[in-house]
Amino acid sequence: MNTTTLIRNGRVIDPSQSVDRITDLWLSDGLILGFDSPAGLVPDRTIDATGLIVSPGLIDMHVHLREPGREEDETIATGTAAAIAGGVTAVACMPNTEPPIDTQAAAEFVILQAKRAANCWVFPIGAVTKGRQQKELAEIGGLVAGGAVAFTDDGAPVSSAEIMRRALEYTHMFRAPGEPFGKAVLVHAEILELTEGGVMNEGYVSNRLGVRGMPGIAEDIMIYRDIVLAELTGGKVHILHVSTAGGVDLIRRGQARAAELTRAGKQSFWISGEACPHHFILTDETLVEFDTDYKMAPPLRTAEDVAAIIAGLKDGTLSVLATDHAPHAAEKKSREFDQAPNGIVGLETFLPLCITHLVEPGHLTWPQMIEKMTVNPARVLGVDRGTLQPGRPADVTIIDPIVKWTIDVDAFVSKSRNCPYHGWPVTGRAVATIVHGEVKMSRMS
Ligand SMILES: [Zn+2]
Ligand SMILES: [Zn+2]
Repeated sequence: MNTTTLIRNGRVIDPSQSVDRITDLWLSDGLILGFDSPAGLVPDRTIDATGLIVSPGLIDMHVHLREPGREEDETIATGTAAAIAGGVTAVACMPNTEPPIDTQAAAEFVILQAKRAANCWVFPIGAVTKGRQQKELAEIGGLVAGGAVAFTDDGAPVSSAEIMRRALEYTHMFRAPGEPFGKAVLVHAEILELTEGGVMNEGYVSNRLGVRGMPGIAEDIMIYRDIVLAELTGGKVHILHVSTAGGVDLIRRGQARAAELTRAGKQSFWISGEACPHHFILTDETLVEFDTDYKMAPPLRTAEDVAAIIAGLKDGTLSVLATDHAPHAAEKKSREFDQAPNGIVGLETFLPLCITHLVEPGHLTWPQMIEKMTVNPARVLGVDRGTLQPGRPADVTIIDPIVKWTIDVDAFVSKSRNCPYHGWPVTGRAVATIVHGEVKMSRMS
């Protein structure tokens, strides 16, 4: 591969460098060259991006690829194909596979399968506990050696505060030179004693429907626990799929506390939070039909929670947008409501839903939205992506910001179709996905 690409005349938005202007972008040999035309260089290929947005390649740090073990739902090849169809150039994949990603060999398997598929980058996340059994820590050191960039038992919480404390102490030791924080622990916040038997948010709607609910405090209590443990250990904690107003408030206060410690020159800690499109678009009112495509964990909450999540995205408390892409084969989602698995697919609707529901109504500016899909998740994971700085891998997403289209689940590349947005009108989509300098997806003529 020895080619030079010129992406001409686009609106280049790179929040990592505070860039938002009409300019060219040069790629060479799989790396970013820069914005200015190098003297005498003639591109092998020119892409006209007039009227389009040129962004660092989007990162989705919360994806369930299901392989190994549940290939009927998704594989590393089909999940990464869905990623590039959606404009995503890198995913971090969750370890709740069968068997779980809890050893060096398991992390290496994911990276090998991703290389074979040759779609986008895949960063494996390692399990916190062996076999996700909640009894003893997984081989954290071996997982890091195998390429794991963070740790979680997502799909389930780390219920033991003692194990969580030790996970934070241990991951804190994996600090890059000069970095204050080690590898991140990603938190699925749920006190299981409080959610047992629940199928939706606990509140007015669950009472009306006469079904058992999952209270918001089941999430808030664990978020608070893990902020306190992060302070104790100097750890790096990222809260996945925040769904409650209380959770947003706790993270905001935790960040203020961390900033105060830093100012005082004391050992500080990392606390960040993530929002998924369904938690700022949908509410528990959608459950009245008992359609399993609206069943998630954490569940869809109330309009007040949605407003608090949007406020948290606006003021930066929630620094990451991610999908929690959770494919399930149709026969599983068509079970009885209380038996059906949680979650929806998200990779192919991620960008248009965020444009339509965050940028169009004026909640976020384009640079604010792109920051939460590029450099911010890269910082949580500690990976050198999400930027157009010269010398970095040439991962670029080209976006048509105004095209109007309709979501059609039958056109999905993902193996699964569990998605409540079929037929929804949306604005904007990725028109080209460039990974390591190669055009992996193009809708440009
Ligand atoms: Zn989760
Ligand atoms: Zn998840």
